[in-house]
Amino acid sequence: TEACLNALEGAGALNAFVHKTPEKALSQAKAADARIAEGDAPAMCGLPVGIKDLFCTMGVPSQAGSAILNGFRPEYESTVTQKLFDAGAVMLGKLNMDEFAMGSSNETSVYGKVVNPWRRADDTAELTPGGSSGGSAAAVAADLCLAATGTDTGGSIRQPAAFTGTVGIKPTYGRCSRWGIVAFASSLDQAGPMTKTVRDAAIMLEVMCGYDPKDSTSADIPVPDFEAMLTGDIRGKTIGIPREYRMEGMPEEIETLWSEGRRMLEEAGAKIVDISLPHTKYALPAYYVIAPAEASSNLARYDGVRYGHRATLAQGDGITEMYEKTRAEGFGPEVQRRVMVGTYVLSAGFYDAYYNRARKVRTLIKRDFDDVFAQGVDAILTPATPSAAFGLGEMNDADPVKMYLNDVFTVTVNLAGLPGITVPAGQDSQGLPLGLQLIGRPWEEGDLLNCAHALE
Ligand code: GLN
Repeated sequence: TEACLNALEGAGALNAFVHKTPEKALSQAKAADARIAEGDAPAMCGLPVGIKDLFCTMGVPSQAGSAILNGFRPEYESTVTQKLFDAGAVMLGKLNMDEFAMGSSNETSVYGKVVNPWRRADDTAELTPGGSSGGSAAAVAADLCLAATGTDTGGSIRQPAAFTGTVGIKPTYGRCSRWGIVAFASSLDQAGPMTKTVRDAAIMLEVMCGYDPKDSTSADIPVPDFEAMLTGDIRGKTIGIPREYRMEGMPEEIETLWSEGRRMLEEAGAKIVDISLPHTKYALPAYYVIAPAEASSNLARYDGVRYGHRATLAQGDGITEMYEKTRAEGFGPEVQRRVMVGTYVLSAGFYDAYYNRARKVRTLIKRDFDDVFAQGVDAILTPATPSAAFGLGEMNDADPVKMYLNDVFTVTVNLAGLPGITVPAGQDSQGLPLGLQLIGRPWEEGDLLNCAHALE
C-alpha cells in the first residue's frame, strides 16, 4: 500500500486519480495485516485497488466525473465496494472517468483528460487510455494499483483495457449489484474488474459478484470459484468467429491480431467455426438510442435539490430557473447531448419510431447470440476495438459519431446482457497494445476466463 501511495504521488501527470484516500488506505492495510496475522486472510486481503468515481464510497467524494455532483459525499457504500472491503481490499482513492461514464476517451471528465502511460514508438504525443474507465485502465497499466473497478455500459471496461494492455471483464447482466453505482443506462450497466492478468480478474470478479436484494435486477445465482476454473485446458471448446465483425476498412493490424488469436485458440485444442450474427450492424444505432433514453431518465434526479451543485439564482427566479441553470452549469456538453437525444427518442411523437424500434432490434441482437450458443458455440472471438489507442483530442471534433464508432465491437454484448472480456493480445506497428475480445454464454464467466487465459 505504501509503495502504491508513493507511486501515485509521482504520477500526477496521468491524472488517473481524482481523489486520494491515503489515510483510509493505511488503516485498511493495517487491518489487513492483523487479519493475516490471525490466519484469517480473505481473497483480496491487503491488496491496494483504485475505485472508479462512479461508485458511491461512504464519506469519500463520489462525483461520476461531473460538476453536478460537486461536494457529494455519499452516506452509504456501494455493494461492490463493500464486498471488496469485506474481502480485505485496500482503497487508494477514486479514479477519473468520462462524465457519467459517457465517452470512449476519458476527455469528458470535469477533472480533465487522463493520459495513457503508453506512447507510440515514433512520437511522444499523448494518447487516450480509452473510456469511460480511463482512469482505472491507466492506473493499472502504470502500476499505481494492483487492480481497479470499472463499469461497462457499452464497452467502458473492455475498450480501455484494450488501449492500455490490461485485462477487463464485464460479467453477465445481473452478476454484480448495481446498488450504489451512479446509474447511466440501467438495463446495460455492469461493474467489473480491470487487472493485469486473467487470474487477477478471476479472483476480483468472484469477490465483486453475488446476489443483492437491494438491486432488483441482481441474479440469485451461485458464484463459482472462477480462479479454480482456470485450468488452461480448452480442448473441445467451440469458438465462433462472427463474419459481421469483419468491418469494411478494418486496419490490417487488427485483422492479423484476430487471425493470430484464432490460431492460438486452435493450437490450444479449441474447434474454430465461422458464425453469423446477422443483426450486428444495427447494434450501434440501437445502443445510441437506448443508452441516452435511459440516461435522460436517470439524470432527471440532478435537479439542484437532492445532490451536489445548485446554481446561484437571481431575484425572481422560480423552480424552473433553478433546474435550468443548475443543469446547464452542472452537466458538460456530451451529457447534455445525451439528455437531449434521450428526451427526444422518448417523446410522445417519436417513441415508436426510435425507442420502441431500438428495443426490437435489441431483441433480434440477443436472438442472434442465443442461436449460435444453441448451435454449440462456447465463446465468440472478436477484436476489442477498431484501432489502437488514438491521440488525445484526435476524435474531439464537431462530429460525435466518430467517437461513437469506437464502440462498434463492444455494445452488442451489453445489449444482449452477455459476459465479455478483453485480453492483451499483441501490438500495432507503433508498439501500442491491442486487445482481443471473447464473448461468453450467460453466467459462464468461469469458462470465458479460462478461454481468455489461453490467449495470454
Ligand atoms: N462509449 C460508450 C458511451 O459513450 C460506452 C460507455 C460505457 O460503457 N459506459 O456510451
